[in-house]
Amino acid sequence: MFIVMSPGATREQIAAVCDEISRMGLKAHPINGTTRTAIGVTGNKTQVAADHLLVLSGVEDVVHVSSPYRLASRESHPDSTVINVGGVKFGGSEFSVIAGPCAVESREQLMTAANRVARAGVKLFRGGAYKPRTSPYSFQGLGKPGLELLAEVRAKYGLRIVTEAIDTETIEMVAEYSDIIQLGARNMQNFSLLKKAGRMRKPVLLKRGMAATVEEFLLAAEYILSEGNEQVILCERGIRTMAEPARNVLDLAVIPQIKLLSHLPIIADPSHGTGRQARILPMSRASLAAGADGLLIEVHHAPEAALSDGPQAITLDEFDTLMAELRKLGPAVGRIVH
Ligand code: PEP
Ligand code: MN
Repeated sequence: MFIVMSPGATREQIAAVCDEISRMGLKAHPINGTTRTAIGVTGNKTQVAADHLLVLSGVEDVVHVSSPYRLASRESHPDSTVINVGGVKFGGSEFSVIAGPCAVESREQLMTAANRVARAGVKLFRGGAYKPRTSPYSFQGLGKPGLELLAEVRAKYGLRIVTEAIDTETIEMVAEYSDIIQLGARNMQNFSLLKKAGRMRKPVLLKRGMAATVEEFLLAAEYILSEGNEQVILCERGIRTMAEPARNVLDLAVIPQIKLLSHLPIIADPSHGTGRQARILPMSRASLAAGADGLLIEVHHAPEAALSDGPQAITLDEFDTLMAELRKLGPAVGRIVH
């Protein structure tokens, strides 16, 4: 950390800041420039809380050097984390696809999709039983009966289940039925939910909030890691910008950025990230090429009849094409596509 003093700071003000740094159990190293002084601070193991230094007289800025997310950072954990979900891996040379409908709607809808997802050679199936909807009048999901249908999918097709927990009241039940617990964009800063997910012994798929910075995203992951759950898979799902008529803008540049800053795997969700079915294949290819560790794709046998997110769902035939395209591209970028 560096404390940048303002150009007119007096010797007494500099000394007072150095005293405060010592009081904090750290070492101060004043560096006198021609117009101003900067004070280097050493002795901290992680980023220290230093906002109060900003109010001391003569202080212009406090610049942090170490990252605020210790457990999520690559600095503290140089090797990439590989998360193994019943033999399907995120974070190594494999590229793992998760596919399924936005919401569990009925047995017939779910089984039709699951049959085709399994036939396409994909091992992870998604579907929300609890749906976080913008409007209270929209379909809210089937709840527990939806989880039971997902359990039928696991038993019948051997697919691993990814499903969303939307609150602390139901997360334990969701965890019982899932192989990966999804935490959605709207809950990325639901800190009590993050902490509770951190106490679960299941991998967590953490989606980026729609207006979250990279630092906020990694600090959300830190909440889960700091409770003892090391299995966090990040998911870029698009952010809000002024670009219309896209639902969101899939921020693919964040993938190499996160890879540099963190050891955690990161997948892309072009379904929520674009909001339109015609954009899914191109952005899936782009995600694979950008270094993502996998994808989350919404599929539906009849998107026009879907109870949620129909405009971004691809058909089951289109999903076959998508997988064939990704399997062609994978070897060119050193990835095995599952
Ligand atoms: C979803 O995956 O269906 C979902 C609600 O996603 P998000 O939290 O990214 O909006
Ligand atoms: Mn959805």
